[in-house]
Amino acid sequence: MTDIIKKSAKEINKLFLNKEISAKEILDQFYKQIEQVESKIDALNISTKELGYSQAEELDKKLSKGEKLGPMAGVPIIIKDILCVKNYPVTCSSKILENFIAPYESTCTQKLWEAGAICIAKSNMDEFAMGSSTENSAFKKTKNPWNLKNVPGGSSGGSAASVSAFEAPVSLGTDTGGSIRQPAGFCGIVGFKPTYGRVSRFGLVAFASSLDQIGPFSRDVYDTALVLETISGYDAKDSTSLNVDVPSYTKKLNPELVKNKKIGVIKELMGDGIDAEVKNEIEKSIKIFENLGADIVEVSLPNVKYAVPVYYILATAEASANLARYDGVKYGLRSPGSKDLPSMYRTTRHDGFGAEVKRRIMLGTFALSSGYYDAYYKKAQQVRKLVTQDFLNAFEKVDLMLSPTCPSTAFEFGAKVADPLSMYISDIATIPASLAGLPAMSIPCGFDSKGLPIGLQLIAPSLSEELLLSSALAFEKVCSFTGKVPAGVA
Ligand code: GLN
Repeated sequence: MTDIIKKSAKEINKLFLNKEISAKEILDQFYKQIEQVESKIDALNISTKELGYSQAEELDKKLSKGEKLGPMAGVPIIIKDILCVKNYPVTCSSKILENFIAPYESTCTQKLWEAGAICIAKSNMDEFAMGSSTENSAFKKTKNPWNLKNVPGGSSGGSAASVSAFEAPVSLGTDTGGSIRQPAGFCGIVGFKPTYGRVSRFGLVAFASSLDQIGPFSRDVYDTALVLETISGYDAKDSTSLNVDVPSYTKKLNPELVKNKKIGVIKELMGDGIDAEVKNEIEKSIKIFENLGADIVEVSLPNVKYAVPVYYILATAEASANLARYDGVKYGLRSPGSKDLPSMYRTTRHDGFGAEVKRRIMLGTFALSSGYYDAYYKKAQQVRKLVTQDFLNAFEKVDLMLSPTCPSTAFEFGAKVADPLSMYISDIATIPASLAGLPAMSIPCGFDSKGLPIGLQLIAPSLSEELLLSSALAFEKVCSFTGKVPAGVA
């Protein structure tokens, strides 16, 4: 039987359609790989074997009968444990939802199953997607496959580490301020945050609703295009979903597109605070784009310096409202022994939420409280507009923008836990595009001297996913990164 663990989603789909391997055999191989590496990386919360094997059986039947199959037929995928997969737990890596079973299917996973993808497992994350290292999970710490002493990034650390460690060719994450791009950068894979509204959020447990987006992780650009085109599109169940056609990203992929395009290097994200080795690799990447025929210029986003504080006011304000629903009545945990309703609320939330979630609920509640609303929340909304306007101004002069994905490579466990601000600051490069709702991605571009991956971020105008993916593909074809295997799981 062909060994498919290291193959891409595209290759696996082809082998399946050619009947070189059955869907059941595909799953067997990935579960075997999970058995081998999971004890090292701790990327997964829940196995969805029952669902996976029933999907595989159906695919095998359909193929033998010659029925039409979807574009992701036979491709296993791992889903971040903040998305509803019907009849499975959706824990958000929080004690408060530990025993909560999703009563319905999220739109994005529904689309995946209709396209023939197979559900393997649900992945670990920072509790309610709040964090940059997956250390805020109430359950366990996911390790970075490139060095098990280091974090995988977050909040979608499990989704990133699992793809990097070949537990699946692709996975889904969510990105509110960088939670797809940053762990993709730390784990040496591709991570994509679509335009806000491109992918339906129905069935995604809300953190900060005006920022949350679902997107893919993969080990190459084609696979990201494949998952993205599968999950994108209008959904009447999400009022923020955009009612615009979805191009076939895989068919439209064209590395030639980057020729003669203007790429703006974001001045503010190439200066102080960016690690020298990271900067060095990004500069090499700029040369690669130049050789590919792109025209490189410098752009300035003067208000980007406010992006992190603005984000931590708006995201926490929205979180404080969204997380008010976990009261011991409607979902999951209810702490026993309370004498009345208010104390039941209090003890449930006290026992159920971790420290970071509590910190954010308090921050957000404060920013929204009367007397402070104008000074914090309203001001932050105004500055968000300015950051967005900076992008619009710059995109009058350039087609794409470029920066490092993160100021440093993956840090060691515990390095930032005691100092939340230093953790928050590590999102400096990813948060601006989130505030502006723009599509952005991280692609692997090199390594630091410790052998840890470095991510390059590309940002495009709204709904320009095609250009983003095509430019990333052109880069991937000449960048020597692809094909390397993480030391921690080799
Ligand atoms: N690290 C950021 C935070 O802690 C971003 C999280 C995310 O994108 N979900 O909020």
